[in-house]
Amino acid sequence: MSDRSVSPAGLARYAVIGNPIAHSKSPLIHARFAEQTGEPIVYERLLAPLDGFDTSVAAFIAAGGQGLNVTVPFKLDAHRMAHQLTPRAAAAGAVNTLKFTDTGIWADNTDGVGLVRDIQQNLGVALAGRRVLILGAGGAARGTILPLLECGLDQLTIVNRSVARAHELVDLFSRAATDAGGVLTGGAPDVARGRFDVVINATSGSLDGQVPVFDTAALGPDTLAYDMMYGAQPTVFMTHAQQFGARTADGLGMLVEQAAESFWIWRGVRPHSAPVLAELRAALGR
Ligand code: NDP
Repeated sequence: MSDRSVSPAGLARYAVIGNPIAHSKSPLIHARFAEQTGEPIVYERLLAPLDGFDTSVAAFIAAGGQGLNVTVPFKLDAHRMAHQLTPRAAAAGAVNTLKFTDTGIWADNTDGVGLVRDIQQNLGVALAGRRVLILGAGGAARGTILPLLECGLDQLTIVNRSVARAHELVDLFSRAATDAGGVLTGGAPDVARGRFDVVINATSGSLDGQVPVFDTAALGPDTLAYDMMYGAQPTVFMTHAQQFGARTADGLGMLVEQAAESFWIWRGVRPHSAPVLAELRAALGR
């Protein structure tokens, strides 16, 4: 491999790779982290052809790149490409952070820890002993299950429109749930009964203005209803949950926290996420 220490400008190179990628907020987030910490990095956007992930990564490494964030639709490709996976990346079956080392490609998934940190630290909701409901069983849901279980939940329930996908996740993580001392259940939306402390919308329904089907008895004044999606306006899921008295939050904090974890992995320095989250929130006008 070529010398990956620095770019010609003396800056270590990182990027977010995806398709599409123009919308990504990651370059702004990492630029702010670099300003805060004084770390000498440059962070770019990398548009890879849909059939050209491996080639694009190889070219980035050859040009001196030290690490990548990976977004839609390449998280499974990144998992396949990795030489070393962290336990949470292996459990997720998907990767959003690559680090290029002398021994090969090291990979992690920081989405789950980003979600947990946003809920516990930014929103002040301790997860130990709580009942948590996840709506959805796609890549984002899968990446968050192990980090959630490791918080010592009392119960985690996963429901999904395509019921088999929820069952698949329950089977996959049942051992981890037992090890963590929590109960893991799931299936069709009607298996989630009673009030939950946290309801996480990990479906992409909000993109189309659709609220996933679930029993609204899950929601109450002590419930945090969290949508992984974010935007200039509260999502339809958040508006829906507010009608049942729930406190709501969107996924902007998760985005910033997963980035902070990647930065720490690459640079060994933990940035302050709060000012960056506040800046992004202000830019959205919220
Ligand atoms: P996937 O395509 O992997 O999964 C989509 C999931 O949403 C599936 O469970 C699907 O159900 C479900 N779904 C889609 N539409 C509906 C609907 N109308 N009603 C009920 N269920 C529906 O997507 P991801 O898991 O990658 O992403 C999910 C969301 O999380 C997206 O909004 C994404 O933007 C967000 N996200 C946010 C992050 C952050 O940092 N804030 C990080 C990662 C993701 P089915 O199986 O039946 O098709």
